[in-house]
Amino acid sequence: MKIDTLCVQGGWTPKCGEPRQVPIYQTTTFKYDTTQHMADLFDLKASGYFYTRLANPTNDAVAKKIAALEGGVAGILTSSGQAASTFAVLNLCNAGDHVVSSAQIYGGTFNLFAVSLKKLGIEFTFVDPDADAKTIAQAIRPNTKCIFGETVSNPSGCILDIAKFAKVAHAAGVPLIVDNTFPTPILCRPIEHGADIVVHATTKYMDGHSAQVGGCIVDSGNFDWTKYPERFAGLVAPDPSYHGLSYTQTFGKMAYIVKATAHLMRDFGSIPSPFNAFLVNLGLESLHVRIRRHAESALKIAKWLKTQKKVAWVNFAGLPDSPYHKLLRKQFDGNSPCGVMTFGIKGGRAASIRFMDSLKLVGIVTHVADAWTCVLHPASHTHRQLTDAQLKAAGIPPDLIRLSVGLEDPDDIIADLKQALAKIK
Ligand SMILES: *Cc1c(COP(=O)(O)O)cnc(C)c1O
Repeated sequence: MKIDTLCVQGGWTPKCGEPRQVPIYQTTTFKYDTTQHMADLFDLKASGYFYTRLANPTNDAVAKKIAALEGGVAGILTSSGQAASTFAVLNLCNAGDHVVSSAQIYGGTFNLFAVSLKKLGIEFTFVDPDADAKTIAQAIRPNTKCIFGETVSNPSGCILDIAKFAKVAHAAGVPLIVDNTFPTPILCRPIEHGADIVVHATTKYMDGHSAQVGGCIVDSGNFDWTKYPERFAGLVAPDPSYHGLSYTQTFGKMAYIVKATAHLMRDFGSIPSPFNAFLVNLGLESLHVRIRRHAESALKIAKWLKTQKKVAWVNFAGLPDSPYHKLLRKQFDGNSPCGVMTFGIKGGRAASIRFMDSLKLVGIVTHVADAWTCVLHPASHTHRQLTDAQLKAAGIPPDLIRLSVGLEDPDDIIADLKQALAKIK
């Protein structure tokens, strides 16, 4: 099936007389006839459902669809994008381990890594994603367990050179994890460029209607954990909490996702409600149609902003003069990365705030990447916990406005931006 067909029909194949839409299995548990049957499920000897904290058929169908879209072997839904990034790292790292991460990542992920996971004893080194492979490789340590990056960074809009990062990771014998939230697999599939694991905030375009918060992890199945049995002992060595079962030995290419389910979900419990998974699936059924329209409208609006005298700068990889345009054309389907761009108003922070406060059709919301066009001022909102030096390192000047282009008529959006620009002296 081609990717547009997978958006509609992936993950769920109803048999004769079964519901065409994925049913919402809104249940905590599942009933069995014999003690032995359920004991086998607990031991992972049989596959089936027993408790929704570990697995649920609605969630599994949606994870299967996203895994198919990304070209992976298996996936798992999480209760948020943050939970997906947390689990993706914790599935490989213990206290005392180290991760190399691009410095150009979502503010919430930066805080998760630099503050919260650091408190658990995992060290992070943040690297400039535009640095050459040799410089990035210098950040690798003997205890490094993975490299992390973001395909299109939120909000700074950098395009990750996935092949470059994959090369550094594989030379060091560690996997590359990529957050592919903004392009979605319709516009970019990181696994095709060498990424091993992909994470998503399904909260954004996959849902597309700001109706639920959710996340997903997809494993390509390509990384051979057994080549480094000591580095990835958690996946390769016998797990005492499962009677000495080895994930790689028992589950092969599925090892990483089975461990995330059987170990992390069991213990930390960040499962989404099956109802939320159902909402993600509704969004996925039209993702291919929506994301292309988001990207096309954003390109039109970015080009218009560039012509405006009061606009100081526009950062959008879809613009042919963007330093990321070449990478975009190499790694993406089409000539526009997503619906999100950043720009600044002449006059700095104060002018940008005045412009935003004058908007009528375009709303000020924290959210991004859904049907309604919206703006955010990261220095006052999402990134207010960062110091000026950290803002600079994250590529966020104080006048930066993040514009998320929705599915309205782009001419109506332009008209609103135009009247707000006219309010600035
Ligand atoms: C929003 C976002 C996240 C976090 O997702 P939540 O569902 O809000 O936890 C992670 N990465 C990127 C790129 C995001 O835009």
